[in-house]
Amino acid sequence: MKLILLGAPGAGKGTVAKLLTKLDGSVQISTGDILRGAVAAGTELGKQAQAAMAAGDLVSDDLIMGIMGDRLKEDDCKAGYLLDGFPRTIPQAEALKVLLENMGEKLDFAVNISVPTEVILDRLTTRRTCEGCGEIYNVKSNPTKVEGVCDKCGGAVTQRADETEEAISNRLNVYNDQTAPLIGFYENEGMLLTVDATSSDAVIDAIKAKLG
Ligand code: AMP
Repeated sequence: MKLILLGAPGAGKGTVAKLLTKLDGSVQISTGDILRGAVAAGTELGKQAQAAMAAGDLVSDDLIMGIMGDRLKEDDCKAGYLLDGFPRTIPQAEALKVLLENMGEKLDFAVNISVPTEVILDRLTTRRTCEGCGEIYNVKSNPTKVEGVCDKCGGAVTQRADETEEAISNRLNVYNDQTAPLIGFYENEGMLLTVDATSSDAVIDAIKAKLG
């Protein structure tokens, strides 16, 4: 599978991507995870991205294309990949198209995971993420067995720095202004699958049906 997962923050892109990797060995590529790793490690990339991320703004297209240009050429991408949180702007989508054409590759389609705003807001404020392995939990619907400790790797499970009410509201505005136009972009490319879903299983079923 070579898929783009589109959707607002909290739509479930990461959860769906993790489930899909188990189906056929495709790898999840999350630009958010890559950037958070760089911030935690204090690298030059992390320093450049940190302020924008904390405010819920996007980091620059150039920075993202630099990361993805390298990442998509790595060996593990040969088995397929699920792009989670990328592209996020029209210039990124256009640059990705050129990048893939130059590599002789073609995406299957872009999945737009459509979830009502009130569900998204509730999810984002109750979401917790493992700082070690990125596993996603929810204090209401999917809590850790021991509070604050990842069931899988024992890492610290915390609320993301960009999941304060202010940053969440900004991220949703940024999504509407800069990322939602990608739905039209991929529709014009004849590549769009929209799934109205509040459960990740429903999204997986729709993807399986489309892939046959
Ligand atoms: P995410 O985990 O996908 O919600 O991403 C967290 C943050 O990382 C975003 O709010 C942005 O600041 C940054 N980010 C992740 N992916 C991108 C991207 N494709 N373009 C620009 N900024 C990004």
